[in-house]
Amino acid sequence: VREFIKEYIKRNGLLTLSVLAVITGCVLGFMLRGLSLSTQAKIYFSFPGELLMRILKMLILPLITSSLMSGLSSMESKACCKMGVLTVTYYLWTTFIAVVVGIVLVLIIKPGYGTDMESNRLGNGQVMTSADALLDLVRNMIPSNLIEATFQQYKTDLIPIIKTPLNPGTQNFFYLMPDDNNPKGRTVLLELTPAPDIEYKTRPGSSQQMNVLGIVIFSATMGLLLGKMGERGAPLVNVCQCINECVMKIINAAVWYFPFGIIFLVAGKILDMSDPSTLGKKLGWYGVTVLAGLFVHGLVLLPLFYFILTGKNPFTYIRGLLQAMVIALATSSSSATLPITMKCLLENCRVDRQIARFVLPVGATINMDGTALYEAVAAIFIAQVNEYELDFGQLITISITATAASIGAAGIPQAGLVTMVIVLTSVGLPPDDITLIVAIDWILDRFRTMINVLGDALAAGIIGHLCRKDFPPDRAANENGGAKD
Ligand code: ASP
Repeated sequence: VREFIKEYIKRNGLLTLSVLAVITGCVLGFMLRGLSLSTQAKIYFSFPGELLMRILKMLILPLITSSLMSGLSSMESKACCKMGVLTVTYYLWTTFIAVVVGIVLVLIIKPGYGTDMESNRLGNGQVMTSADALLDLVRNMIPSNLIEATFQQYKTDLIPIIKTPLNPGTQNFFYLMPDDNNPKGRTVLLELTPAPDIEYKTRPGSSQQMNVLGIVIFSATMGLLLGKMGERGAPLVNVCQCINECVMKIINAAVWYFPFGIIFLVAGKILDMSDPSTLGKKLGWYGVTVLAGLFVHGLVLLPLFYFILTGKNPFTYIRGLLQAMVIALATSSSSATLPITMKCLLENCRVDRQIARFVLPVGATINMDGTALYEAVAAIFIAQVNEYELDFGQLITISITATAASIGAAGIPQAGLVTMVIVLTSVGLPPDDITLIVAIDWILDRFRTMINVLGDALAAGIIGHLCRKDFPPDRAANENGGAKD
């Protein structure tokens, strides 16, 4: 019995603790909600959870750069090319399938029809167009300043220009006007009546999130070039390998802190959430539709693809990923989960190190099946609430823009909510209606992040299998070192 317990703790101890931590966090959060803690008390209470997020975020940059540079530098260019093409094709294909699953379900379930919800048609409704958002995606691929890319993304801002002659009066319409000549400086508050005719002009802005996409592209290019340099590139490759090893060691040590952090992360979020009693029936059905779609995609279709393409049991593979899935559930961030996903793939799933080092960072950046599915469902839900009939062409537009929006979304909490503007504006829906779904977004975000992480990890298994001739398994086992049998 003692041996059995020892073996169980060794194999599943951390996972069991993490699952217990999520449950404890939920219970604690709901119990403390009754106490109406002050904002400051909530901040102190959430501190261990904040630390967990900080550790994970701290590791993203060194992990991505060192993985891609050292991974790609040691590959033959032909193998590299094959792996790259397969990975990107597979990612686009599965994202598109996820969108189709979402569209089919939302059209069958029709969560938006009924009467308990009002559209926000009256909002100013003028936001970025899809073209602006797509240009931003490309701009982020090519960061103009690498250092800035480690803490900021490029994001177009809109400057409101009031066209109506100013006519101050008694009714209050307030507009915050950034000063055109000095965009980052002064804002002017105008009081106008009647509501003026406003036109918007775009200007470069930035959002305070790491531009992971730009960093991935730069590091992958560097990795490829280092590989071609041979001996001369070796010192830098060695540095990257050392950084990578250190990061993995930090992760191995930090995971023992995670269950403790998860309790406070989850409880803190529950303390902060808005009152669930305000949720209407429609919103409930919308949530059910998204969850059903995620379930079908993540636990039926993706495993089926894995089985068809590799001939192996997908659920044995998924079992090795549970730790990463729990972290995704607790953090709502696929980028923050990346270090743990990497650990699970190398130690439990025996994926080739070079494959994991390429497929995972790229996947955490561009492959978000859960997000794409949710964006499509949400857009059609909003159309249903507005009683707006979408024709077939518009459904195609939604499927394409939802795929693009998920590629553009960062792997951070609720990023999908922001990029959904692209999908809504592409078919003429009011972007302000995003507020209709905000109330339950934080919880749906957790589940879609789990599917995003699962999609990346299954992809690594599939690409590893398809490229097995280029990366023989015996070498993989050697390189994996600590991998379990
Ligand atoms: N939170 C998601 C992720 O990190 C992105 C999103 O859908 O908001 O993968």
